[in-house]
Amino acid sequence: MVSRRSFLGLLGAGVGALAAGRALGQGSRRPNIVLFMVDDMGWQDTSVPFLRRNGQWVRTRLNARYAGRTPSMERLAAQGMRFTEAYACAVCSPSRCSLMSGMNAARHRVTDWTLGVDQANRLSTSGEGLRSPRWGANGLQPQGTEKTGSCQPPWRVDAQGKYYQPTFGAAEGAYAYNLSVPFTNALAFPELLRRAGYRTIHVGKAHWGSGTPKSYKVQATPTSPGADPRAFGFEVNIAGAERGGPANYRGDAQYGNATNADFATPGLDENNYYEDDVFLTDALTDMALREVRRTHAAEPDRPFYLYMAHYAVHSPLDNARAWDRSRSDSEEVARDARNPNPNDGLAWNATERNYATLIEGMDASLGKLLDLLEELGVADDTLVVFMADNGGLSVSGRLANANAPLRAGKGSCYEGGTREPLIVAWPGHVAPGSVSEEPVIIEDFYPTLLEAAGVPLPAQAELAETPEGVYADGPLRQVLDGASFLPVALGRRSTVRSDGAARPLLWHYPNKWGEGPAGKAYNYYSALRLGRWKLIYQHSDQSFELYDLPTDLSESRNLAAERPEEVDRLRREMGRLLRERGAQMPIVQATGAAVPWPDEVSLPAASAAPGLTLRN
Ligand code: CA
Repeated sequence: MVSRRSFLGLLGAGVGALAAGRALGQGSRRPNIVLFMVDDMGWQDTSVPFLRRNGQWVRTRLNARYAGRTPSMERLAAQGMRFTEAYACAVCSPSRCSLMSGMNAARHRVTDWTLGVDQANRLSTSGEGLRSPRWGANGLQPQGTEKTGSCQPPWRVDAQGKYYQPTFGAAEGAYAYNLSVPFTNALAFPELLRRAGYRTIHVGKAHWGSGTPKSYKVQATPTSPGADPRAFGFEVNIAGAERGGPANYRGDAQYGNATNADFATPGLDENNYYEDDVFLTDALTDMALREVRRTHAAEPDRPFYLYMAHYAVHSPLDNARAWDRSRSDSEEVARDARNPNPNDGLAWNATERNYATLIEGMDASLGKLLDLLEELGVADDTLVVFMADNGGLSVSGRLANANAPLRAGKGSCYEGGTREPLIVAWPGHVAPGSVSEEPVIIEDFYPTLLEAAGVPLPAQAELAETPEGVYADGPLRQVLDGASFLPVALGRRSTVRSDGAARPLLWHYPNKWGEGPAGKAYNYYSALRLGRWKLIYQHSDQSFELYDLPTDLSESRNLAAERPEEVDRLRREMGRLLRERGAQMPIVQATGAAVPWPDEVSLPAASAAPGLTLRN
């Protein structure tokens, strides 16, 4: 056993080796990697502060609201680095496809959430005088996928009604598909980890390639290769498929299978989860712990990659209180009274309380995983990354200000839609209790995790190409837009760019958020973060909004009319990136023409456009 002191000495040598160009992991055991991904979690839905002001932590009223509810996040933050300006996309599939492919959403074109195979109505969403382009509504597909072929669905049900997974790649009983709406191929990083010797374990929500929203108890029909996480390099798939949410969190409802509900969670009809009414978050955690134990017992020297992708804290929010039945409603209400809503002083409604217990259940899962890593003696060899896939919901029964001090929430162009609580912990490598204010984005995870594993990035020639004919403008080549933030996490650099300059972060959503409210904030926009500035380009009226984030994190003062020079500089950068990444613009219904690039709009008219008023 290496002592702490000599271990740190070794670490110093390791950092020197890294600086000399050697990848981490070479010459020694590769680290285990746990990516703990939460669905639809807001930046402030935790007792851990993520707001920095003048180099100091600001404890918000939402942080106070979650006091005592997220001790495991506090534990992880104490072990590692908090990134206060980490971003994802505003809805699920774009984020998850950027994670897997390293591509920005403008490039991979899976710009909205995916679901059914060839679901043409997902292509024709319209509103505000616009309609969507022919985006990648069949989602992300594994390298080599053609428009026609055959594959197994991720799940089938046997004669006794029990779930099983067909042998991956087996021809017998395979489903013939003929993909008529677009999709995007990618060489995913879990495939590269698998090739490098990792045991790759997928648990929970995938939501990459299209499949069927129906319960597999009713039908196991139309599917695409990308519906199965195993198509992207995962050796083990627990409960993952094309679906983007749970039907029901309750075990006694069989996670929706009792009523064959759409979105019923597959593959959890074992270990008495139904009989014991085990909450979905706990069932997934239990399956993950079992798999990690099994991997460690069978192959203790083999590194593993665990993608712990909870369905929590996605809606439905109506049955979530079951997670902790030890507390009564009156206790919850009393707790609310001590920590009122940060905006209007009122107590939270039942939906908010249900949401908060989903957060608690998620945090308890994180604690169990951290405990297991310590019990197995592998905590020091494991990189743990905590992230969420889009901002907290601020519609559908939740408060419009649910992400205060950020504006709006899931689906929107504002910070409430995209800013996420990112924590990176790796004992002996990442300084305990450290912080970075460097802006990072979800496509950065691909190169970051591969660098941590000591696995070289693939050369351009090895990356995937989507065949001719899938998109009208030719084949789509995978390009890694992300940049590794590992040097930042290791304390070797303060910024992702080695020259210290700010780099542009781009969001592109030429779609209408089907489940969201009407309005520009949630539909048809591009946004650019560059240094302190955030520029939003509203496709519907081709207007701009400019915000100075350090002084106006809530994006309440549109400076576009006052600072036309900044609008012009940022819109040119936005236009350059959109063109370079092959972005699809929405179509103006009246003319059939594409919405112009942001730098083609006449600026005086644009800067004179009124600021957006969001109903708050
Ligand atoms: Ca989500």
